[in-house]
Amino acid sequence: MRFQAAPRPGLLEYSFAKNARKAENFRVDPISLAQKLLSAGPICDHCLGRRFALLPGKLENFERGNLLRTALGFSAVPAESCWVCGGVFLRVPFWAEKAWELARDYEFKTFLFGVHLSPRLEAAEEFLGEEFPSPWAEPIRRHLNRSLGQAFERCLQREGRAASVDYARPDIQFLVDIEKDAVLLQVNPAIFYGRYRKLVRGIAQTSWTCPHCRGKGCEVCGGTGKLSTTSVEELVVPVFLEATGGTGGSLHGAGREDADARMLGRGRPFLLTVENPRRRRIDLAWVAAEVQRRSEGAVELLDLQPATPELEEKVKRGKFAKRYRARVILAAPVSQETWERALLGLVGEIAQRTPARVRHRRADLVRKKRVFSAQGRLLSQTEAELELTCEAGLYVKELISGDQDGTKPSLTELLGVEAKVAELDVLDILDEPGVVDQKEGG
Ligand SMILES: [Zn+2]
Ligand SMILES: [Zn+2]
Repeated sequence: MRFQAAPRPGLLEYSFAKNARKAENFRVDPISLAQKLLSAGPICDHCLGRRFALLPGKLENFERGNLLRTALGFSAVPAESCWVCGGVFLRVPFWAEKAWELARDYEFKTFLFGVHLSPRLEAAEEFLGEEFPSPWAEPIRRHLNRSLGQAFERCLQREGRAASVDYARPDIQFLVDIEKDAVLLQVNPAIFYGRYRKLVRGIAQTSWTCPHCRGKGCEVCGGTGKLSTTSVEELVVPVFLEATGGTGGSLHGAGREDADARMLGRGRPFLLTVENPRRRRIDLAWVAAEVQRRSEGAVELLDLQPATPELEEKVKRGKFAKRYRARVILAAPVSQETWERALLGLVGEIAQRTPARVRHRRADLVRKKRVFSAQGRLLSQTEAELELTCEAGLYVKELISGDQDGTKPSLTELLGVEAKVAELDVLDILDEPGVVDQKEGG
């Protein structure tokens, strides 16, 4: 594997053509530029070659430097005396070794190096650019990052391990601070995707830290430091931490249901983030089985897999139509005919003011939301079962109760009898595109 992704041929040709034009403006040719550089003071082959990095050919910078220097009859200088870098490339194997020591206990398939240049190096690089302009030059930062990556790969090979550079989402990252001669390791989180089913009532999705004690434990929270008794997050995260050896974790759902509502069907999509994971390729079937066992069947995990950017985007967007089942209690007897007419009236656009119970945390607005379908039956004259398909963000409890005319129309309004949700289940999260449109059409 090459450390640096090779530029696409077209791009290289283009940049070479562009650079050749620039070279004309500079009125330089590589030989006379090299001559000028070598005559200016002691310079190492890395720094000499770096001025010609973009010239065609598959040579490393120090090889180009070596060729030019010997061709022009100059002898090598000790790297420490290089007026540009002061021998910084001599430290590369040491830093790579240090990086390996920091990372050896972690599982990773991708990595990335970054360097924090010393002010001296920054200044020397700037001076080099001003006094010895070259259309083929590579910045020292990129040169160092690549050299570090190559040296790190040699460490990995020696240890029988392999990993490649990833600029976008590396598993681990190193920062080499040249001034401090230090290497820092950052282990990026492991993110998993899955869907959870919540088969009993009274479990929140996540636990809320007690605002009175900020998690320390006080009288308000009964010493637990949090406000809900149990949450899906609390049941799931420890199992992931055990599997990955991570130091912390959190669950982020695509929306959330109330603690007293069950989450059935195919479950709700979520992301599970593990901080500082030592292992990334974990036995997800074991995780699912363990969560089910420890929660005594209250929580089930489906479809577990490492998260991709697409899945992350989907969960974070999190606005999906849903199918609900509600058991509804009616304050007075209702006839079959009234019931059926009310169901018809419920389908369509609903004007819903932010419910009283959430106004403390959401802006007080009237939102237009759609009910795509409403079906149901009277179980008795004062009890009914209702199945609804609703647009994302519609509050079902208020759709039934009317929320003191905050939601219009509502089942209460349409029946002329006060209706209240006794039990609510989310039957499905319609996160595949087109599902709702089909329902609307039908
Ligand atoms: Zn140098
Ligand atoms: Zn507290």
